[in-house]
Amino acid sequence: MSARDEPRGGRAPAPRPEVAGLEPYVPGRPAGAEAGSLASNESAFGPSPRVAAAVAAAAARVHRYPDPLAGELVAALAAEHGVDPEAILVGNGSDELIYLLVLSYAAWGGAVVCADPPYRIDEVVARAMGAAVSRVPLVEWRHDLDAMARVPADVAFVCNPHNPTGTALPASAVASFADRAEARLVVADEAYVDFVDDPEATTVLQRAAASTNLVALRTFSKLFGLAGARVGYLVGPREVVATLRRVRPPFSVSALAQAAALAALADRDHRRRVREETIAARARMTELFRANGFEVVPSQANFVLVLTESAEVLAERLEGAGVRVRPGRTLGVPGAVRVSAPSPEGMALLERALSS
Ligand SMILES: *Cc1c(COP(=O)(O)O)cnc(C)c1O
Repeated sequence: MSARDEPRGGRAPAPRPEVAGLEPYVPGRPAGAEAGSLASNESAFGPSPRVAAAVAAAAARVHRYPDPLAGELVAALAAEHGVDPEAILVGNGSDELIYLLVLSYAAWGGAVVCADPPYRIDEVVARAMGAAVSRVPLVEWRHDLDAMARVPADVAFVCNPHNPTGTALPASAVASFADRAEARLVVADEAYVDFVDDPEATTVLQRAAASTNLVALRTFSKLFGLAGARVGYLVGPREVVATLRRVRPPFSVSALAQAAALAALADRDHRRRVREETIAARARMTELFRANGFEVVPSQANFVLVLTESAEVLAERLEGAGVRVRPGRTLGVPGAVRVSAPSPEGMALLERALSS
């Protein structure tokens, strides 16, 4: 046996310092019972029943690579929103689009500005790619857009409604931020915009399609109940879409995911029902926590942030009753827990847990 055939001794190679120092993203954990899983802002109401059949049909052609740019889905989204298909890019969840945006505009010595606390992925991705991160504290749980606008950066992330607080800004505020921000590119992450009371007055999606420096991010993971399929999309300037197409992995959105998203998008009844039930559950949950003496940040998303000095105790108590929530500690808000809107069955678990 020659020396070359033996394994090398010592250690695996050290990663780049940005990566070595990274705190990994901590995902929410599922509960034992399906209805008690309230840690990850997934839909408690499931996907459209049309999705399973569409995925099964697509599975018969799974020996072929998917359409790299998800043309059929892009056409459906363009019709849905009344925007040019060239202004849309579909990704492996909106998280992939965040990676591509940071890679293309801020990596290796660039800068990102976001809220404090931010949507965790924005910060993790920026740090992993060697971008400096400026965090601007929320004011009354909302983005401080005036302060953020003064920060020189390559990319500004505005999560609207924000995760983990659930607060929303009017579209006019985000648009005027994009007009005056020092940042070169403004990303409005609208993962939860379907749950706001007035989506039309909140979204900047159409404006982004006609802009030069604003993009909107959307996802199929929340309203459409496809978190496990991994589909998100971006709407923005054609130059930005063309740039991201150059760096993206060509087949990142699977054929099964594309089929699932198309079927989900077409089912308007399911969408309307999930929206209504989620908004009702949010109101009920807000009342419930308040009735039990907790302070709750008024939410426009599919979750609420419950403020309490005994966040760990509350999370453990709920867990003992079969309800998994997200401890604020993992989201940059130690004195809080984040609770996703439950199904009626999950609400019953929550009611029982809080009354004991
Ligand atoms: C849930 C969420 C998303 C969705 O991410 P996907 O990768 O599409 O599942 C995006 N942004 C925010 C702020 C979220 O909370």
